[in-house]
This record gives sequence, C-alpha cells and structure tokens, in this order.
Amino acid sequence: MAVHGGAFAIPSDEIDAHRKGCRRALEAGQRILADGGSSLDAVQAAVTVLEDDETFDAGRGSFLNEVGAVELDAGVMDGRDLRTGSVAAVQRIRNPVLLARQVLESPHAVLVGEGAQRFAITQGITPCRSEDLISDRERIRWEQRGDGSDPNWARALFGDTVGAVALDGAGDLAAATSTGGSPGKPQGRVGDSPFVGAGLYADNAAGAVSTTGHGELIIPLVWAKSAVDVMGAGSAAQEGADRAMLILERLGARAGLITLDVKGRVGVAWNTPRMAFALQGLDDYDCSDGPR
Ligand code: ASP
Repeated sequence: MAVHGGAFAIPSDEIDAHRKGCRRALEAGQRILADGGSSLDAVQAAVTVLEDDETFDAGRGSFLNEVGAVELDAGVMDGRDLRTGSVAAVQRIRNPVLLARQVLESPHAVLVGEGAQRFAITQGITPCRSEDLISDRERIRWEQRGDGSDPNWARALFGDTVGAVALDGAGDLAAATSTGGSPGKPQGRVGDSPFVGAGLYADNAAGAVSTTGHGELIIPLVWAKSAVDVMGAGSAAQEGADRAMLILERLGARAGLITLDVKGRVGVAWNTPRMAFALQGLDDYDCSDGPR
C-alpha cells in the first residue's frame, strides 16, 4: 500500500505534519488489510484520515475557491471489475471519498454539485456546515489572496491533494484520490483528481495509481491510466512511476504520483520541490526534498 499527501513546494515548517499525516493514513489502511479487508476499504480508510487532517488540501483544510467556499472532488476505483465512483464540486461533505464510494456502489459513475449532495443524504451522509471545512490557515490565506488572480501564487500551492493505492490478499487493487482543488479556483472548476484515468486508476491486470499536481495539464495526458499502462506492459512500480514522469514533459506539467504493481511493489516520483508520501514495506515515510 502507498499513500500521498501532495507534490508541491511544501513549506519546511509543514514537513513534519505532512509526514505524520501520511503515516497515520498508511497505518489506517494497513490495519484494514491486516484484518483481511479489501483494498477498496483500505484506500477509503487512508483517504478519510487525510481528509480529516487539515494539513492537506482535502476535506477540512481545503483551499477556498474564488468566493471563499470549499468545493471538493474525489474518486475511487476498484481494479477487480473496473467499477468507479466520483464526485465533483460538492460542498458541505466532510469526507468526499465516502460519498465517491457510495457512487461506486450505485449504478452511476459520477455525481456533481447539488445532485451529489442530495445523493449523500439518501446514503445517510449528513451534510456538515460549510464552515466546518474551513481551517484558520485557509481562511487567512483567502482573505489575503482570495481571488486567485496571481497565477504564480496559485501555481506554487498546487499539489496538496491526497490519495492512496492498495493491494489486498485476494489480489485486488484499488485507488482513491481526494482534493479541494486549486487555491482561489473559479466556482465549479474541477481538476484531474476525480477523473478516472487522470487522477486515479486501478486495474488488477496492470497496477494502481493516484496522482497530484496541475490538474488542467494532468487531464489531457490521461496521466494515471498512462502510468498504469506502463506497469501493464511489464514495468515494476518504481519504473512505472519514473517513466510516467517523462509523459509530463510534453506539457511541462508539475506533478507527482504513487504507483503499485500487481506484485505489490510500490513506487513514487515527482518533479515538484517536495512530495509527501508513505510507502508500505520501505520504512520510507517521507516528504522528500528534490524531484525523484
Ligand atoms: N490535482 C489537483 C487539482 O488540479 C490539485 C492537487 O493535486 O493538489 O485539482
């Protein structure tokens, strides 16, 4: 199993919180797997921990959009049967990954906006108050630079999204990704994170991936699926991650990803100043300096 907490210029004084958050999330997922649970439940549990941790741009603590609201995107995918569930531009949902999971279990693949919120209520997910998702850090950030009109400011912050990939004892792979998107984003803007193929992908025959970074550039590269295809052609997870970085060059995208192959090997790569991640088996809970 592997989890990530975003690839971007993580400030030095936030490294520890990113490390600890990723470790806690990995441990939550590992507990599910150790008890014989499914990879889908494991990635859901890990991402829930990250959404609840206001260190990250997911759930509480997410960036605010141009009007000062939190709008969330999340997706989950089951590599066994390629079932997917995504939600986008949802408000007042504390854990969008849980809602995405309910979508996966439904006849639908994607629900957005108010309809997704109504669906949540039918699934017993009670909407929280808007302010429950807003951390002091993000309120202050928005008050200072709220409209996102300085593209350099927004770009420097891209990449605090969270995600997880897991393989269970039955040989089933799963992936999940969750985000509050980019700072000061327009209302209704959706990045790569909830899009199957861009922000996440899982296929028992090939591998599982969760991505983070500049969504507008990750989408056209169909980056998560491209990385899974590299593993499907025989590359191990780390090689898959490294080769996926080459795909970014065409658009000059800044991003990172975690990979998991069918043998349970994990990989990570990024071209941003830092990336937060935790990898099972490598005792490598990290928030490393420099692209790898
Ligand atoms: N990929 C996310 C988005 O574009 C941002 C991130 O990874 O932090 O919405």
